[in-house]
Amino acid sequence: MARVIAVVNQKGGVGKTTTAVNLGASLAASEQKTLIIDCDPQGNTTSALGFPKDPARRTLYQALILKDQIERIIINAQVDRLELIPSDKNLVGAAVELVNMEDREYQLKAILKSIRDGYNFILIDCPPSLDLLTLNALAASDSVLIPIQCEYLALEGVSELLDTLMRLRRTINPSLVIEGILLTMYDDRTTLSKQVAADLRSFFGSQVFESVIPRNVRLAEAPSHGMPVIFYDIHSKGAESYIQLAKEVITNAQKRFGQGIERPDSGPGIGLAASAGATGSSDSGGGSGGTGASSDSTAISE
Ligand code: ATP
Ligand code: MG
Repeated sequence: MARVIAVVNQKGGVGKTTTAVNLGASLAASEQKTLIIDCDPQGNTTSALGFPKDPARRTLYQALILKDQIERIIINAQVDRLELIPSDKNLVGAAVELVNMEDREYQLKAILKSIRDGYNFILIDCPPSLDLLTLNALAASDSVLIPIQCEYLALEGVSELLDTLMRLRRTINPSLVIEGILLTMYDDRTTLSKQVAADLRSFFGSQVFESVIPRNVRLAEAPSHGMPVIFYDIHSKGAESYIQLAKEVITNAQKRFGQGIERPDSGPGIGLAASAGATGSSDSGGGSGGTGASSDSTAISE
């Protein structure tokens, strides 16, 4: 059964989409059947994978709101073993229309139930907000991958986000853990990048991925060619770094599978992964029936 990983940070422009696209492609290139879900009305993942805007294309909106069969929405991402649930601006409407639905945070989880057996990994690219779309992604996921741009105040930002995720664990998804914190746009020529990376590592310890994504112009160029960086320039530092990250994610999944436990150690002060406890129980039900948590979780969806 697929490991479902939400790529989350309510801060904009930190590398969520770049990570979803390039980690997804690198996982697929490593023989892992992977589905990327574009859960952001900006549709950047959809276009970065080579699908320009097309009003006729079915998207996540049709699945979430109109209840179209998910199999009819999934498209082949022009790469072996990589598939996509696309998005477009209509998804803005979904965030609004979900509000009045019963079990509104669990609609995506319900959709994934029927297809997650068909993949090794499912990555969900989230919008830069904690709206109902992001809550649906978090409710449907086993873990969160948090890209952090190596810049001033990064530590404060990630601490706030982790507090929010802790609250969400109590409400919509008790088995959610941290897949890892990912340093993005790292520039080893600047003292600031180095300092931010050192601070994050000393504070969050092993929850920070060893792989670091450098600031790399190839990563910024590849989306305009509609392809992941490994097909645009396989020899670039950006491509290397995402291949490295994919290896780390696969190794962690194998370890977890072998031990039957989530990442055992966490840095001080977080406890999200640590307290997530022992089971790899990715599917703890809850696809329907709710938890009575709706009002709570809405409270954080500012
Ligand atoms: P949003 O919150 O708007 O969805 P995001 O978190 O998904 O943004 P991206 O779209 O991945 O962020 O990245 C923001 C911009 O930075 C894009 O133009 C992207 O091409 C560029 N970028 C991302 N990562 C890198 C990198 N490692 N090196 C150079 N440019 C990068
Ligand atoms: Mg994005």
